[in-house]
Parts: sequence; C-alpha cells; structure tokens
Amino acid sequence: MQLTNRAKQVSNKEMTLAEKMYLPAVVGGLAITIKHFFRKKPTIQYPEVKKYLGPIYRGHHVLKRDEQGRERCTACGLCAVACPAEAISMVAAERKKGEEALYREEKYAAVYEINMLRCIFCGLCEEACPKQAVYLRHDRMVPVFLERDEVIYGKDRLVESLDDRYIRKNSEVATTPTEPSLTRSTT
Ligand code: SF4
Ligand code: SF4
Repeated sequence: MQLTNRAKQVSNKEMTLAEKMYLPAVVGGLAITIKHFFRKKPTIQYPEVKKYLGPIYRGHHVLKRDEQGRERCTACGLCAVACPAEAISMVAAERKKGEEALYREEKYAAVYEINMLRCIFCGLCEEACPKQAVYLRHDRMVPVFLERDEVIYGKDRLVESLDDRYIRKNSEVATTPTEPSLTRSTT
C-alpha cells in the first residue's frame, strides 16, 4: 500500500566515469552561473541611482503652497492630533497686513516641525489635513541621519519651493483605491 506519492525508486546503477569525476554537476553549476551573469541585474547603484518607489510610497513630507504660491497650512493642529507618534509640533501666528501673498489663511504656522525619528510614515497627517497642506512625497525619501540635530525638520525643509512644486498625478494613483486622499488635488 502506498501511503504518499513522494516515494522515489532508488537506482543502484553504476556511475559512469564522468559522474564519478562530478563533470555533469560541475557543468550544470557553471551553466547556472553563466545564465545569471547575462541576466538584468536587480541591484542598483544607490545613492547615485534611485529607484522609482511607486505612487503610494510615503516619503519626505512637504507643506504645499497653493496655485498663487501661498502656504496652505493654517496651523489648525489636526495633523498633530492625528499623528500617532506625536511627531508634529507647531506654533500658530496671525497673518499681518501685507502678508496676504505669503499665507493663504488669516492664521498660519510660524513654526512647523516634524521629528523624523518619531515619524512612522503612516500618512495620517495627510489624511487629517482639511487644507490639503501636508503630503508625504512618493518620489523622495527622508535621508539617513548622521547627527541627532538633523532629525527635526522645520519649515525650511518642509515648505515646497516655488521652483520644486510637488505634484502627484492622479493617473499614477488610479490603481490604488485604498488610498482615497491620494486622489485629491494638490494645488
Ligand atoms: S506620517 Fe504619521 S507618524 Fe509621520 S508625522 Fe504624519 S501622522 Fe505622524
Ligand atoms: S498641515 Fe493641515 S492639518 Fe496640519 S496644521 Fe496645517 S492645515 Fe492643519
């Protein structure tokens, strides 16, 4: 009676001279090595070469400006409340006369800081923001820290510069219905 289908018939055949010298096994091993030698390499020369991380990658935070270049953030604090890592802190200030071209709302974040050592890149700050002001870039990683002083990101590193606007194309995220906020306008 056969209990499993894994039983193998053992051959007691006499080995040839080539088999005794391991020639078929050596040639087979070399063939596998040569096959891999000509294959496309899966490794990249990071950091000189950077890989596309995909449309739903959550990377470096960015504080968006609107289409007129004004900061969108109104320092409401909802992102800080939503943050499970308590990584966000801010100081609100009132917009003064003449600053209408700088800040979109009457209240703005004079200080906005994210502790990148605490951040777990969950994206909840982005989800919570009613002003579409904070996003996690899909195309930029937070670099490795070498000093403890480098881990607090202030507005100087978070607010997007006018010549480096961040746009996440809706077409890129069309296949990711589980990320509803990603389909929002970023302008
Ligand atoms: S991504 Fe998550 S952990 Fe990081 S700042 Fe936003 S809410 Fe906090
Ligand atoms: S980024 Fe958005 S949620 Fe956070 S304080 Fe600014 S407006 Fe409010």
